Amino acid sequence: MPRISHASLLLIVLLSLAAVMLTGCSGDVAPGGPADLVLRGGKIATVDPESRIVEALAAREGRIVALGSNAEIERWIGPETRTVELDGALAIPGFIEGHAHLTGLGQSLMNVELGSAETWEEVLERVADAVAKSEPGQWIVGRGWHQEKWSEAPARTVEGNPVHDRLSETAPDNPVLLTHASGHAAIANALAMELAGIDGSTPDPDGGTIVRDAGGDPTGLLRETAEDLVHRLYDRSRDSMTAEQKRDEMRRAVRRAVDDCLAKGVTSFQDAGSDFETFELLREMADDGDLGLRVWMLLRVPNDILREKLPTAKVVDYGGHRLTLGGIKHSIDGALGSHGAWLLEPYTDMPDTAGLNTVDIPTIEESAGLALEHDIQLCVHAIGDRANRETLDIFERTLGDDPASKRWRVEHAQHLHPDDLPRFAELGVVASMQGVHCTSDAPWVPKRLGSERAASGAYMWRSLIDSGAVVTNGTDAPVENVDPIPSFYASVTRNIGGRAFYPEQVMTREEALRSYTWNAAYAAFEEDDKGSLEVGKLADITVLDRDILTVPDDRILGTRVLHTILDGEVVFSRE
Ligand SMILES: [Zn+2]
Repeated sequence: MPRISHASLLLIVLLSLAAVMLTGCSGDVAPGGPADLVLRGGKIATVDPESRIVEALAAREGRIVALGSNAEIERWIGPETRTVELDGALAIPGFIEGHAHLTGLGQSLMNVELGSAETWEEVLERVADAVAKSEPGQWIVGRGWHQEKWSEAPARTVEGNPVHDRLSETAPDNPVLLTHASGHAAIANALAMELAGIDGSTPDPDGGTIVRDAGGDPTGLLRETAEDLVHRLYDRSRDSMTAEQKRDEMRRAVRRAVDDCLAKGVTSFQDAGSDFETFELLREMADDGDLGLRVWMLLRVPNDILREKLPTAKVVDYGGHRLTLGGIKHSIDGALGSHGAWLLEPYTDMPDTAGLNTVDIPTIEESAGLALEHDIQLCVHAIGDRANRETLDIFERTLGDDPASKRWRVEHAQHLHPDDLPRFAELGVVASMQGVHCTSDAPWVPKRLGSERAASGAYMWRSLIDSGAVVTNGTDAPVENVDPIPSFYASVTRNIGGRAFYPEQVMTREEALRSYTWNAAYAAFEEDDKGSLEVGKLADITVLDRDILTVPDDRILGTRVLHTILDGEVVFSRE
């Protein structure tokens, strides 16, 4: 695809440099005038082909115009230039989340997360936070609280559980429903109970309990089917939303996800499968200047809709490089945890099954034809070794003479038969993996696969890289936190509770950084604009408080993002 703006900018830079040399100008003035942004005094890992490290960088009009020593970059600083003093911090190309779900992440952030709350007070604080971000009347739902995990008991309890009084004071104008970690109970506030018609005289429903205090008043705790009395109302409030209200809510969800990403140093997001409505919404947000990071999106919709809409839908670098329709997503199997991953041989811990084929092969093949026809990528979720083999077979059958030129992707590529491993490099198929899934799943992978299969086929990123395959990285958020640091840490240590999961498969630090930057850009045909810090490329930069390329392993996880820069503008700074 043409990269006119990039190419012409590069030309301008080169011509300006030539002009400077010809006129014998000294190094005092930068060609074309000062930069908008200069970073200096740090370690800047460029992730260019030579993995160069420089001290300073200048950007103008959203692109990098110079890299070098502090002295070399000095002449780019003018009166209007914003200068960021790195003070030894590490600057890297902005992280590219290689596989996650933007609206899913946003929606999960709009629900109140309570699993990590250590006291009832903390639960109340989080609800207060949500109230501050809501309109009166809007539902606030949360999940995951567990009274046994709290370091101190609430001031007032009934049967060991909190009562609603403080919750109702915290949220007087919003109905609130907070589901217990077990999923078998929830606590509601006064407004939610009032809307549901629950008071002292309401009888317990069949199969449920409205917990009451000594005076017979409901405490807010609703067990089993009693929870449905309130939950039903919440569902109904959503059913009655207009299309416009739903769209507004989705827009708020996207904004929340974007804020979360920027705070964690993610400047580009590869969305692993949304519908056309979401795509249209993102396009509208890009038009409004309201899409705060770059999105490369896969469509996950039936073939007949693709056939109808693809001819007019395709966009590349839309809205100032904010939105690209990258390809089509399918899932050929399920997940390993639920015995849904499609295996060549039965599960070790459930020998009567070898998992599930969730989308049939002819359907995926039809999508493959559409992808070729419209010059977009095909990206197939494959977890089990059978799923990976079948996917590679489909790719091989469809891609013809020059398969690598299409850069089709296997999403997850978690468990591979050793015979299939070299096929990624041979076919030029990208392995779109998630470092943090390895350590999250490690405790039960050998149970499902047996130790031999786990050793020879689970999360084989070292072997894939050695074979010449391109491996990307990510989190599958909201499945995992979108923070790249835990995934980076997992990629280079595979450490789980002090023991490494098949440590021979770790990446080097440099490889892990590349998997999260240049490789991800390559996997989206975006490496001319992103993925490394080079003259002419977009000025998307993440500044970290420590050097994740050299600190000891145990210091990686505490890494904090100091600044996130997008288009040469600082869009996030830690206070
Ligand atoms: Zn996913």
